[in-house]
Amino acid sequence: MHKITLINGDGIGPEISESVMKIIKASGLTVEWDIQTAGADVIEKEGTPLPQRVLDSIRRNKVALKAPVTTPIGKGFRSVNVQLRKDLDLYANLRPCKNLPGVNTRFDNVDLIVVRENTEDLYAGIEEQIDSDTAHSIKIITRKASERICRFAFEYAVKNNRHEVCCVTKANIMKLSDGLFLESFRVVAKDYPNISPREILVDNLCMQLVQDPSRFDVLVLPNLYGDIVSDLTAGLIGGLGVAQGANIGLDCAVFEPVHGSAPDIKGQNKANPTALLMSAIEMLKYIGENFYAEKIEKALFKTLADGNKTADIGGKLSTTEFTDVVINNL
Ligand code: ATP
Repeated sequence: MHKITLINGDGIGPEISESVMKIIKASGLTVEWDIQTAGADVIEKEGTPLPQRVLDSIRRNKVALKAPVTTPIGKGFRSVNVQLRKDLDLYANLRPCKNLPGVNTRFDNVDLIVVRENTEDLYAGIEEQIDSDTAHSIKIITRKASERICRFAFEYAVKNNRHEVCCVTKANIMKLSDGLFLESFRVVAKDYPNISPREILVDNLCMQLVQDPSRFDVLVLPNLYGDIVSDLTAGLIGGLGVAQGANIGLDCAVFEPVHGSAPDIKGQNKANPTALLMSAIEMLKYIGENFYAEKIEKALFKTLADGNKTADIGGKLSTTEFTDVVINNL
């Protein structure tokens, strides 16, 4: 039996976690969930939104499913998401973007993978106030982290029958930092003669993605461009309610939806559990439970294709009604 850490999050986190646990149970797969609370709700009791016990649990179980966790603004806490990624060295952020049946969007041929570097760039958090009118933020790019993420992207391409990896930078302007990322990409690409390497500037990529996303296959990007572009690609397939993600390191992996904790619809039984469910499906594939992953995916796709949807993607169902239809379709 698998023991998996579940961070049930805050905002809509507990509702969508409940839905996903119910669906996995109904599929016939037995999972022992090591449920760990984190975020705004534990600060008062434990003094931090990310207690050590959460990190210990993930290190022990190696795999976690994570619902969104809010980091309170302006209270001096580091982002829970950034801290998790850093402490567990989850260096690769993987966001597959593919059209879902029944979810109408502008394009119906989106099938691309965003691989975002997760540990450095402007997210290193090195900022200084020079004077009251000037602030500096330092962009860190290292050869080690750049080669590691580019290798991850090429390996992913090989294992998943992809044909091209495209490196996204602004190396014409940031010649040293983005230049180093691009140079690392070129070095790594030589080890993968069967995958076509491609290079593009991030502004051009954005324009082309909204014109015709089928022009792209696997994208690899430094942290900040990856953050922005992966929200753009989430929009291409129907928005935050359906966009999944994973943070992968050498020892551990944390699977989580792209969306935040949606406090505006908290506790109203309105949240779409699809993004967390898609993340869970990827997680099941990662731990080798392909049979159950495919069984749940089929049930989810049938549910959506039959027009059963939550309000965020144009339907009328509540979280629990949607969950029950998926379970019926299993
Ligand atoms: P963060 O900064 O943590 O990413 P945010 O405020 O930018 O959070 P979200 O919390 O993801 O963004 O919410 C953005 C909008 O999308 C909100 O209106 C929210 O209700 C909606 N939303 C996000 N996730 C879902 C979901 N799973 N189901 C339905 N609506 C959602």
